[in-house]
Amino acid sequence: MKIEGASLQRTLKNRGYRITRQRQVVLEVLRSTNTHPDAHWIYQRVRRRMPQVSLGTIYRTLGVLKETGLIQELSYGSSFSRYDGTPENHYHIGCIRCGKVADVDLPLLRTLEKRIKPREDFKVTGHRLEFSGICGDCQ
Ligand code: ZN
Ligand code: MN
Repeated sequence: MKIEGASLQRTLKNRGYRITRQRQVVLEVLRSTNTHPDAHWIYQRVRRRMPQVSLGTIYRTLGVLKETGLIQELSYGSSFSRYDGTPENHYHIGCIRCGKVADVDLPLLRTLEKRIKPREDFKVTGHRLEFSGICGDCQ
């Protein structure tokens, strides 16, 4: 997916953030892959272009990009979060052997949130749906 520089700038600016080269590079690296990488993978890639960058900076930058809705963080309990350059909700399948995460081709189930009976005083604001399986490499 190609990043529109102007839209990145506007999105960050609207939330009171400056556009920095590291924010731009992290976003470009993340949107250049569909593998849903973890922060360490992103760090290695960004370092090729910005050798001085630290892993801490990568984590902070990912936090800002997530905060502004430009990316998604997919958290998996105790293991490392994976990051997704596609900000709109969509569904994933994860390999139970190697942890690979891939997009699945399923339209967003918009009515799902209306069909559940909210517990207690919950107001439904979203949902996350994950499939699991064994990937081609692991079969
Ligand atoms: Zn696998
Ligand atoms: Mn995805």
